[in-house]
Amino acid sequence: MGKTLLCACEDVSLEEVRRAFAAGHRDLESVKRYTGFGTGPCQGKSCLALVARELLRLGATPGEIAPFTSRPPGQPTPLAALAALDPATLPAGHQGVPPEAPPRRPGPGALPPLPERADVVIIGGGILGLSLAYELARRGRRDVLVLDQAYLNAGASGRNGGGVRAQWSTSDMVTLALRSLALCRRFAVDLGINVWFRPGGYLFLAPDGAQVARLERNAELHARHGMRTRLLSPEQALEVVPHLDPSRFVAASWNPDDGVVFPWPFLWGYATQAEAMGVKVRTFSRVTGLRRSGDRLTHVETDRGAVACQLVVNAAGAWSKQVAALAGVATPNRPTRHEILVGEPLEPFLDPLVSLLGTGLYFSQSQRGELVGGMGDPDEPEGIVLGSSLRFLARFARASTRLMPRLGGVKVVRQWAGCYDVTPDNNPILGPAGYANFHQLHGFVGHGFMMAPAMAELYADWLTGRGKHELFDRFSLARFARPGAAVGEDFIIG
Ligand SMILES: Cc1cc2nc3c(=O)[nH]c(=O)nc-3n(C[C@H](O)[C@H](O)[C@H](O)COP(=O)(O)OP(=O)(O)OC[C@H]3O[C@@H](n4cnc5c(N)ncnc54)[C@H](O)[C@@H]3O)c2cc1C
Repeated sequence: MGKTLLCACEDVSLEEVRRAFAAGHRDLESVKRYTGFGTGPCQGKSCLALVARELLRLGATPGEIAPFTSRPPGQPTPLAALAALDPATLPAGHQGVPPEAPPRRPGPGALPPLPERADVVIIGGGILGLSLAYELARRGRRDVLVLDQAYLNAGASGRNGGGVRAQWSTSDMVTLALRSLALCRRFAVDLGINVWFRPGGYLFLAPDGAQVARLERNAELHARHGMRTRLLSPEQALEVVPHLDPSRFVAASWNPDDGVVFPWPFLWGYATQAEAMGVKVRTFSRVTGLRRSGDRLTHVETDRGAVACQLVVNAAGAWSKQVAALAGVATPNRPTRHEILVGEPLEPFLDPLVSLLGTGLYFSQSQRGELVGGMGDPDEPEGIVLGSSLRFLARFARASTRLMPRLGGVKVVRQWAGCYDVTPDNNPILGPAGYANFHQLHGFVGHGFMMAPAMAELYADWLTGRGKHELFDRFSLARFARPGAAVGEDFIIG
């Protein structure tokens, strides 16, 4: 049978757009994330109007079909051209950064109502909130409500690099990541959705002796966990990634079992399966207050009404500090913008995700062939800002083409940004804070995506009486008030 294509770049058909609408996705940002339309090289120039027309025909309101945020650089641009720009001449921070378009709430009557009460209310429908809802439901605790102020994938969970690695520097992180990797491999089977898992490994490059010492320490730890991490000379690293410039690093660490995924389907998978077990996921429902009585929270207030509850989980990612403040709880998180880009789809040329230690630079090739890369900026100030900068393009282009000159020919198709949710010790904040029934599940910096599947299992075990992992005490908010209790995690990228 023939199909009517609306988005030729991403092969999105009329039927898929209709299915998205039938599943409740009415605004263009949601439909874009649900179907992938508009994310290819033409960036919606040929399909936006067609999709908008179909949504209107199906019953969407004019407000819902406001165009999605356009992503620079506007037309595919080679990294070599961007590398000719001097980042030092481009403004750092948020100066001149255009704001992201606000989420468009569906018209009146289009959203299912909020329940009057729920046993557990999870604030934040990112990967941490949704994976916890799913794991709670699997364990029988199904009267769970997930609230998100926007569409699914609006937060960092829909904006990240999809890297999943077990190469960490502490036993806890290695254990969690190994479990997450195992769950990622099974995700398609268990949750019925393709997440484009590509087990190409991670290759960490050490530019100096201090970084080599870190890699050596880590490799010993990994061996104790049965991992296949190997330390490589630059020549050996070239056998894994042939086009690297070997003068840019002195040693490397490679675990072939790390990998990358496509983040969006994880959220659809967790949300769909959780809802099938009775969980309610309500988007465009912003939490505005937390009502208290004695040492307990009693209601979550939203811009769509209040919900009575037994337990509240703050899984609001970069917004978690704001959400905690609604209950008068102060947390030390710092939301910080991180930028990322995607290139045109190419033949496979890069197996592992490559990261040059000490610079924040990383890049990988997705299962679909696109180069995906980012680079942290030490001059980035605190703040929830989601706009994109030319400075990032210039910094990434310079650093990546120096490390791998062949990348100069790769054309950048889109750039965007999300926020890391940074804590003083780069570890999450977990467990109750301020109120016995106000749980925290945030502060995952630049690695929350890969930790979520395993963390959700542990958290759900605890909340359903199956035992409390000692991480929940170690990573409580109270640690920041105890001298020496906050031991930093330093093997982070970005
Ligand atoms: C550029 C970039 C690259 C990254 N790369 C990786 C990587 O390769 N691997 C990895 O593991 N991690 C990576 N990360 C980090 C990872 O994306 C995050 O740690 C993770 O997604 C956090 O998930 P979350 O559910 O806590 O937050 P989010 O996904 O941000 O979800 C929080 C949700 O809360 C909602 N919310 C906020 N306030 C309210 C409110 N008042 N009421 C209702 N809802 C509210 C938001 O709309 C949002 O949807 C990266 C992050 C960025 C930005």
